[in-house]
Amino acid sequence: MGEIISGKQIAAQIKLKVQARAQAFEQKTGRKIGLAVVRAGSDPASAIYVRNKVKACEECNIASYSYILDDNVSQDELVTLVNKLNADDKIDGILVQLPLPKHIDERIVLSAISPNKDADGFHVVNAGKLFLGESSGVIACTPRGIIELIKSTGEDICGKHAVVIGRSNIVGKPVAALLLENNATVTVCHSKTQHLKEITKTADILVVAVGKRHFVTADMVKRGAIVIDVGMNRDESGLYGDVDFENVKSVAGYITPVPGGVGPMTVAMLLLNTVDGARA
Ligand code: NAP
Repeated sequence: MGEIISGKQIAAQIKLKVQARAQAFEQKTGRKIGLAVVRAGSDPASAIYVRNKVKACEECNIASYSYILDDNVSQDELVTLVNKLNADDKIDGILVQLPLPKHIDERIVLSAISPNKDADGFHVVNAGKLFLGESSGVIACTPRGIIELIKSTGEDICGKHAVVIGRSNIVGKPVAALLLENNATVTVCHSKTQHLKEITKTADILVVAVGKRHFVTADMVKRGAIVIDVGMNRDESGLYGDVDFENVKSVAGYITPVPGGVGPMTVAMLLLNTVDGARA
């Protein structure tokens, strides 16, 4: 039976660290660290994520400034807002919640964020630094949290075969780069991958970011593997991961639950990125 990795508990420890650093910052500078949270449109999941992030800021002595915009906001208006926040001295981090409404080019909005206020780590400069192995960049929150979850097992990443299913810019690609940085041998799988099960069966570390409920089943997992489930699939009956947790947990060595795994770590890493940015 695999050990359950509690992202919730690890995130709580990180938040204590963030809170202490945020308090020290305020004592030193006379102002709170500030995070601007921008959301556009009416996506219900985005509204939940933003609410959780704002609540986490309150818990950690970080001031949050919310900008909730209509579905029909224009790209220019969003870029203007981002530019205003870039120039605002009380704002240390800017988060633009994705997805944005369909008529907006997310890349243009994300590129407008000043790289040193890029709390999410999605700016092309920060993504580039990650791929070049430069430590001065901001690391995307979910991938950064995933590495912490893997390290929390006490298992060494070095030399292990890590398989990532999914190649998005926000999860799959950056987590693959981080695993490589940690000296894993990395295989990235996607919708065109052939013989997926044969590949996942060889994974010592399996990171799943597909967005399909219970996509990974027990027969796809090597005994003793570390399984990290990034998926967040909501329907009227609840929130489900990409991994069939109940069956996979008897094969895996370690496994993250959904909810309570990667999700809370993403929020904790957002706060850590904001505090790191302010102190820098
Ligand atoms: P995405 O952009 O939709 O990417 C999904 C990836 O899965 C794509 O690379 C796709 O391949 C691949 N894929 C789809 N069907 C597949 C199949 N049959 N076999 C192998 N690969 C397949 O998703 P994302 O933004 O990375 O998010 C993935 C999941 O993580 C979602 O459920 C999302 O809600 C969740 N998420 C959670 C957090 C968190 O904090 N917990 C953060 C971000 C995302 P192609 O590239 O070939 O299309």
